[in-house]
Amino acid sequence: MSQRPFHVAIVGAGPAGFYTAAALLKQATVPLKIDLIDRLPSPYGLVRWGVAPDHQTVKGIERAFFRTFQRPEVRFLGNVALGHDVSVAELQAHYHAIVYTIGNEGFRKIGLPGQQCAQVRSATEFVFWYNDHPHHHDRDFDLGNVRRVAIIGVGNVAVDVARILAKDRDALAETDISPLALAALRAAPIEEILLMGRRGPAQAAFSPKEIRELGDLEGVDVWTTPEDAALDPASADWMPRAPKTAARNLALVEALAERPRTGAARSIRCMFRVSPQSFVLDENGRMVGMTVGRNRLEPTDGRPRPVPTGESWVEDVQLVLTSIGYRGVPVEGVPFDPDAGTIPNVGGRVTDAPGGPVRPGEYTAGWARRGPTGLIGSNRPDAKEVAGALLGDLSAPDPREDLVPVLSARGVHVVSCMDWHRLDAEERRRGAAAGRVRTKFSSIQAMLDFLEDT
Ligand code: NAP
Repeated sequence: MSQRPFHVAIVGAGPAGFYTAAALLKQATVPLKIDLIDRLPSPYGLVRWGVAPDHQTVKGIERAFFRTFQRPEVRFLGNVALGHDVSVAELQAHYHAIVYTIGNEGFRKIGLPGQQCAQVRSATEFVFWYNDHPHHHDRDFDLGNVRRVAIIGVGNVAVDVARILAKDRDALAETDISPLALAALRAAPIEEILLMGRRGPAQAAFSPKEIRELGDLEGVDVWTTPEDAALDPASADWMPRAPKTAARNLALVEALAERPRTGAARSIRCMFRVSPQSFVLDENGRMVGMTVGRNRLEPTDGRPRPVPTGESWVEDVQLVLTSIGYRGVPVEGVPFDPDAGTIPNVGGRVTDAPGGPVRPGEYTAGWARRGPTGLIGSNRPDAKEVAGALLGDLSAPDPREDLVPVLSARGVHVVSCMDWHRLDAEERRRGAAAGRVRTKFSSIQAMLDFLEDT
C-alpha cells in the first residue's frame, strides 16, 4: 500500500466532526491527513453555542476533542466558510474525501398568525444569544418589561431556556454566559415561565435528568397541576410501547404536581396538552398575549396525537420562545433535502437528492445526516459508521495540493489549532479576571484582531 496520505476534509468542527476525525484515525490502516474546517475561528459547535452556560461539566467533552486536535494528522482550518471562502468543487479538487458535519443551524417555524412580531422568537436564537455566538451576539432581546414568558415545546432546549430564565443571576454570572444577556436578565422583571407541551407528560421530549434538575432549581417554584400531570386514556394505552423515558418523565411530572408552592419570586409552570393558536398584537404590532387551546390525545398506530378540544383562552405573556426543534439550512453546492432539512444520503454517503445517485467521495454525519435528535454522544456511533464507509471506499491516493496556501493567497485568515489555543487561553484569562469560567470573544473580528495583535 502506498505511503502517500489520503486527504480528508471534515466540514464542521462540532461534536460530529470531532467524532468522525477520531473514528477515522482509529479505523484507518492507511495514512490520513484530516483538515477540520469551520466557518468560525472557534471549534466545538453546539458544545460551545448550544450547551447551557450552567452545564460546564457537559462542556468538559471539549478536552477529549482537543486531544484529537493534537494528533499530528489533524489540522484546524477555522474561519473558513464553505460556500463563501471555499467551494465544494475546490474541496473536491484538494481532498480525496469530504465529510459534511455542518449540523442544523436553523430552526422550525411555528406557522401561526402574528408570529412575525418581535416578541415571538425562536429558543434556538435565544440560546445562541446567551451563549455569545458571534452571529447572534447583538440580537435584540428586550426583556425589560417581560413578566411572563411562554416556551412552546417540551424538549431539552425548552428546559435549558426555562432554567436560564429563572435561575439566580449571581449563579449565572460565574458561568460563560454572554455579559449582554446577563445584564438583560438582571434587568428583567420575570415572574413566571410557562413550559407548554402539546401532548402529555409521557410524550415530553425532555430527558428525565433535565426535568429533575429543573425541579431542583433553587429559589424557583417548579410546578404543574394534577390535571396536567395525569395520564390520559390514549397515553395509558400507549405506555407499554413507549420509550423507557416516558414512565420516568411521567413520575417526575407527577411529583411536581404534588409539591407545595413556596411563593418564590419566580416560578415555572409545566403545562401539558396545550397548543398556541395565535399571537394577539396591539395597534403597534407588539404582542400582548397568546391564545392557547386545550388538546386531548387521540390514539394512533404510533404515538398519541393532539387534537383541539375547542376550549381556548388568552395567556398574558410578553415573550414567546418557540422551542420546537432545529432544522438544517442549505449550503451552496451541498445537496439538501428541503423536506427533511438534512443532506440526502444513504448510510452516510451523500446522494444528489433523496433516492438519487451517490456522489463519490462525499459523506455526512451528525445532525446534518440524520436531523436534530439525540445527545452529544449520539453522534459517536454515527461517526464510526461513516468513517467505516469512507475508509472502505478509498482507492489509490493521487497527490493533492494543500488548500491552506490557496486560501491565504485569497486573503482568508485561516485560524489554526495553535491560534485557537491562544484564543481559548485568552477567553479563560478574561473570565478569571471577572470571577467567571470564561468570557467569550463576542465577534469574529475581535478574535482575528487579538491573533494579529499578540
Ligand atoms: P426536541 O427534543 O425535538 O423537542 C421538540 C419539542 O417541540 C417537542 O416537545 C415537540 O413535541 C415540540 N413541538 C414540535 N413541533 C411543535 C409544534 N408545532 N407545536 C408545539 N410543539 C411542537 O428538540 P430540542 O429541544 O430542540 O432538542 C434537540 C436535541 O438536542 C434533542 O435531541 C435534545 O435532547 C438535545 N439537547 C440535549 C440537551 C441536554 O441533554 N441537556 C440540551 C439541549 C438539547 P412533540 O413531541 O409533540 O412533537
